[in-house]
Amino acid sequence: MTGSATEPAEPSELVERLSQALGSGAVLTGEDIEARSCDPFTHLPPASPALLRPRSTDEVAAILAQCHAAGQPVVIHGGRTGVAGGAIASASELVVSLERMNRIIEVDPIGGTMTVEAGVAIEAVQDAAAAHGLFYPIDLGSKGTATVGGTIATNAGGNRVIRWGMTRQNILGLEVVLADGTVLDLLNRFIKNNTGYDLKQLFIGSEGTLGVVCKAVLRLVPGPTSQNVALVSLDSFAKVVELLGRARGLPQLSAFEVMWQDYYAIVSGDPARRLVDPAAAFYVLVEAMGYDEENDRDAFTGLLEQAFEDGLVVDAVIASSGKQAEDIWRVREGSEILVREMGPFISFDISVDIRRADEFVVAVRAALADAFDACRSVAFGHLGDSNIHIGVHVGPDTRERTHEIEACVYGVLRDFGGALTAEHGIGTLKRDFLPEHVSPAALATMRQVRRALDPDNLVNRHVMFES
Ligand SMILES: Cc1cc2nc3c(=O)[nH]c(=O)nc-3n(C[C@H](O)[C@H](O)[C@H](O)COP(=O)(O)OP(=O)(O)OC[C@H]3O[C@@H](n4cnc5c(N)ncnc54)[C@H](O)[C@@H]3O)c2cc1C
Repeated sequence: MTGSATEPAEPSELVERLSQALGSGAVLTGEDIEARSCDPFTHLPPASPALLRPRSTDEVAAILAQCHAAGQPVVIHGGRTGVAGGAIASASELVVSLERMNRIIEVDPIGGTMTVEAGVAIEAVQDAAAAHGLFYPIDLGSKGTATVGGTIATNAGGNRVIRWGMTRQNILGLEVVLADGTVLDLLNRFIKNNTGYDLKQLFIGSEGTLGVVCKAVLRLVPGPTSQNVALVSLDSFAKVVELLGRARGLPQLSAFEVMWQDYYAIVSGDPARRLVDPAAAFYVLVEAMGYDEENDRDAFTGLLEQAFEDGLVVDAVIASSGKQAEDIWRVREGSEILVREMGPFISFDISVDIRRADEFVVAVRAALADAFDACRSVAFGHLGDSNIHIGVHVGPDTRERTHEIEACVYGVLRDFGGALTAEHGIGTLKRDFLPEHVSPAALATMRQVRRALDPDNLVNRHVMFES
């Protein structure tokens, strides 16, 4: 990595030129940059000499064309909620932030689409869709700040993947600016369009290594009219898997979120989040969203009553209002409590075979206990999607020991044939492990794609691959 992450460089002649071209307020330097962070947990400020805030695709194209001509690397910023270190900017890179490209351009209720600029926050998209009786299914704890562009770049998953898929499944079209300033219009609005390669898919999940997403056409679905949510406790993982098998029988199943005891013990320290007995081994948030209030409710409560009768579930609370549904979701979204109670910690975002998820967690804990004198961990995640998050703390020097912790966890992961990242992406933090988790041919092909679109390695140059 070139440049220090802590010593900002002097603004260059290029920055002066860009500043004049983009107008006042478009370029931030000095204290205005230092007050920002590149990520949500360590709050590392960008070390860049300048942060550029274009207002349009043309301005993004002009910035990239000038940077390309000058051989100047850039890092792209959306909402900076990414947890893979993809937005970390060194002193040799300029930041291009999409924060002023935040317009909702059009909602088309007949076509079921919304066209937006990439800097719009996910929650704003959800609100705009709801105003038309429509629904954008991508939903994540960071939705107030995470942007459409960032979620496309990371192919974000979140809470409702089991029903509506990842970001990839919810995007119809994109507008992207390539590293040399070329504008690529892929703003398809049709569900069916087989006209050549579906190039937009290349950019979804590319973590900004192939270009800057400037606009997107989102696919909307009719707004669900029923939401049933419950928090249940169970005493074995076999019962969790059995409950998931049964819950899959509900066509409306929209979330199946699992929390291991250690996660719930920490989060339920907040009395408002202690909704069921905190002594069970596992906790599951089950949600179903549908379009027939009465029948959906009957099917949902029928599932849970049967689970009770069959001894699958120990305790349960079923939301009887929208407020109670939110309270239950707050149990699952307790990341700020984890940061407060367990920080510093290293977080993992992996996929494994659902049936072996607990076996995996047990094996990880055993490996960590062998490797570290004092180790604390919590496990939770979108189990219905095979996705588990694990937070690991090994003492005040946890961050300094990141690589050792990662080597330990990823070693177990390889034995289980799991995926290195389920939804957060490789970023800069998991880059070193990528070669061990994909085949040499797959890695070489990924690099070829990268080189084809950005031969000088100027956009997000430290993301995903070693330079
Ligand atoms: C409390 C919390 C809960 C979260 N829950 C989830 C979850 O459930 N599921 C999940 O998947 N993630 C989750 N995340 C992670 C994060 O919110 C997502 O990765 C999100 O997609 C990042 O969006 P962003 O706009 O903040 O992107 P940023 O953090 O700004 O950027 C992320 C990456 O995308 C690149 N990028 C950003 N914008 C663009 C663009 N316009 N064009 C090209 N590249 C771009 C950046 O360079 C960087 O590499 C969570 C994070 C927090 C803090």
